[in-house]
Amino acid sequence: MRVAVLSGGGGGARFLRGLVDAVDPAAVTAIVNVGDDLEVLGLSVSPDLDSVLYALSGISDEERGWGRAEETWNALATVEELGGEAWFRLGDRDLGVHLVRTQAIRAGEPLSAVTARLAAAFGIETAILPATDEALRTWVDTPNGSFPFQHWFVARAHRDPVDRVRYEGASDARPAPGVLEALHEAELILIAPSNPFLSVGPILAVERIRSAIDRRRVPCVAVSPLIGRRAVMGPAASMLDRLKGGTSAAQVAECYAGLVDALLIDEEDAADADAVAGLGVRPIVTQTLMRDAAARRRLAETALDAVALA
Ligand code: GDP
Ligand code: CA
Repeated sequence: MRVAVLSGGGGGARFLRGLVDAVDPAAVTAIVNVGDDLEVLGLSVSPDLDSVLYALSGISDEERGWGRAEETWNALATVEELGGEAWFRLGDRDLGVHLVRTQAIRAGEPLSAVTARLAAAFGIETAILPATDEALRTWVDTPNGSFPFQHWFVARAHRDPVDRVRYEGASDARPAPGVLEALHEAELILIAPSNPFLSVGPILAVERIRSAIDRRRVPCVAVSPLIGRRAVMGPAASMLDRLKGGTSAAQVAECYAGLVDALLIDEEDAADADAVAGLGVRPIVTQTLMRDAAARRRLAETALDAVALA
């Protein structure tokens, strides 16, 4: 079964790992958020694409939850000693990827092309596509000012409450090569348990991606990133609370209402199922904590079973 997945770099990357255990990895296309991308120390960094690359090649650091396993930090320590730009944590192994990507981009290679090369070099069969090759950058408006995404998320430790999320460049951005084809050929479209505002929002802000999903003839199924009305990590719950007025699965459904057929919600949120259904989204109650490979695979299988909705 051909599957297209919209994904960020945390819950999304983990979900993709489970998915490629449950179906042929070559039948999966990951359409990945680039709203988090930034330049650090002159390098082009794509944190969510890299998280997906590392997850699908089995080299991600599971304990830290981001970056590569067996990482060392010598380059960053030197940058710090020299008073350089050290707020964004780049490990030595990770830096190698940014060097290769940056050189390619400077030479005029699109982000999608260099990402495909990296994926192939890491031995990944799944297609990993940036949502767009063009500059699409997430900004957050807060009571303390407007910040580029990583500045707010990393440098300010996402402490400022968010009044609004903006996707700069999204309205003119075209889907990267392969994205629309993957959406058209998919027998199932999945939205990973990623942050609806920060990871999925930027992808859906590319108009032709949203309209392709709107016009699909196959089921589209999202997975809630909440368990027991809380995020497993990161600011999803606090953002849902402030921007949608609550942290139940219904607020997640609201983010995708009119777009998805079903939403996988955790057993701990079973009480929210009726509210989800009330929004025209079919709730599918299951265990959603991806604590290990077996749990990741089970969650993916439950999402795949939703193809029967068609
Ligand atoms: P980011 O790019 O690192 O922000 O990652 P994503 O947006 O892809 O994922 C972040 C979201 O993943 C958070 O809102 C978490 O609540 C969610 N998440 C992480 N692990 C799990 C899990 O095991 N189960 C579920 N349901 N959600 C998870
Ligand atoms: Ca991210």
